[in-house]
Amino acid sequence: MPSIPTHAIATRVLHGDDVQSAAERAFHPVVPPIYWSATFAAEDAETFAGMSADPRHPAVYTRHANPTHERVQRIMADLEGTEDALLTASGMGAISTSILALVKKGDHVIAQTRHYMAASRLFADVLPSYGVDVSIVEQTDLANFEKEIRPNTVLIYIETPANPTIVLTDIVGVVELARKHSTPNNRILTVADNTFAGPVNTRPAVDGVDVVVHSATKSLGGHHDLTAGVICTSKELATKIHLMHTILGSVASPMDAWLLLRGIRTLTLRIDKINSNALAIAEFLEKQPKVEKVYYPLLKSHPQHELAKRQMKGGGPVIAFAVKGDYKATAEFVAQLKLIVHAVSLGGIDSLIVHTATMWRSTMTEQQMEEAGIAVNFVRFSVGVEDVEDLKADLTQALATVPN
Ligand SMILES: *Cc1c(COP(=O)(O)O)cnc(C)c1O
Repeated sequence: MPSIPTHAIATRVLHGDDVQSAAERAFHPVVPPIYWSATFAAEDAETFAGMSADPRHPAVYTRHANPTHERVQRIMADLEGTEDALLTASGMGAISTSILALVKKGDHVIAQTRHYMAASRLFADVLPSYGVDVSIVEQTDLANFEKEIRPNTVLIYIETPANPTIVLTDIVGVVELARKHSTPNNRILTVADNTFAGPVNTRPAVDGVDVVVHSATKSLGGHHDLTAGVICTSKELATKIHLMHTILGSVASPMDAWLLLRGIRTLTLRIDKINSNALAIAEFLEKQPKVEKVYYPLLKSHPQHELAKRQMKGGGPVIAFAVKGDYKATAEFVAQLKLIVHAVSLGGIDSLIVHTATMWRSTMTEQQMEEAGIAVNFVRFSVGVEDVEDLKADLTQALATVPN
């Protein structure tokens, strides 16, 4: 039975993609098959003509579309509350494809001081080299966005929450600004990276954001075993972005699409557990004498706590905190953890931690790090689904190694 919008999200992650083809219905598989094929045969000339005429026909050529991808797209559009969705090979594939489809030489774009690092590079380096003007604004104050709006502004790109101090952007506020300054000849589009919060906690499109992008490598896949990205938007914009998608070719493998579909089935279960684990751990860390400061949206001490309560149902997986110590003491604390894995990425079932300054030491100067707010004693902790007491015990024994 196809899902209906009145079903709760926990039901829709299981049934939101339920329309099966005649071939699939013949065998009634409970789990959808993987269409592991790059190309699909036409029965006759007339069918071939029909297939060729539709750039998004689900079974012609996998760079254009694939039936396994279709199912992920259907469920993601449903979760984010958009008309349509596209699957890409990575989160950066989703971001770069969307942005390159929506801006051209001479346009002006507004982005934030803090984004996922590769996205920052796209805005700070790549777009300007193609003749696109870019303003980078400090995202906690809406007035900073408004000040930069110009007659040729076509797009505002936001990410919330964002590294390294888990700062938020007021989604409704940015949407209202974009609408207020749009003219009949120039509509200012909004694009939001919803990777950190995810659709269980925050639904930017429901608040009016035009395009929602995800690194599905993170919470959506949820098991640290696939790389993928998703773009959720209107039919009109999806058609435009799909054209760029077929040119740039950020195409997910059918296996990754299938793994993603499998991961999404347990999204609400995992995120509910991760939300409660992360809040408990954030509160626990705040009480530790060897911890200087903790950043988590749903902590009362978060400077944007009121905004967080308004736009986030749960705080999501990522906590940032500062250890009371120098670079070496922080690196040593991370090295001492036994259960929590020392690895990049976030949002999956395993708890992962990184020493932020070590992660960026090779690509950023100390001054750049300071400007980006990356202190030497920062760690980014993505809380998983382990037993919360075991996580606390691991943190306690590692914090004990931090010198007084
Ligand atoms: C990981 C991540 C990306 C990039 O995703 P990939 O799948 O690694 O390409 C983009 N935005 C955010 C917020 C991320 O965490």
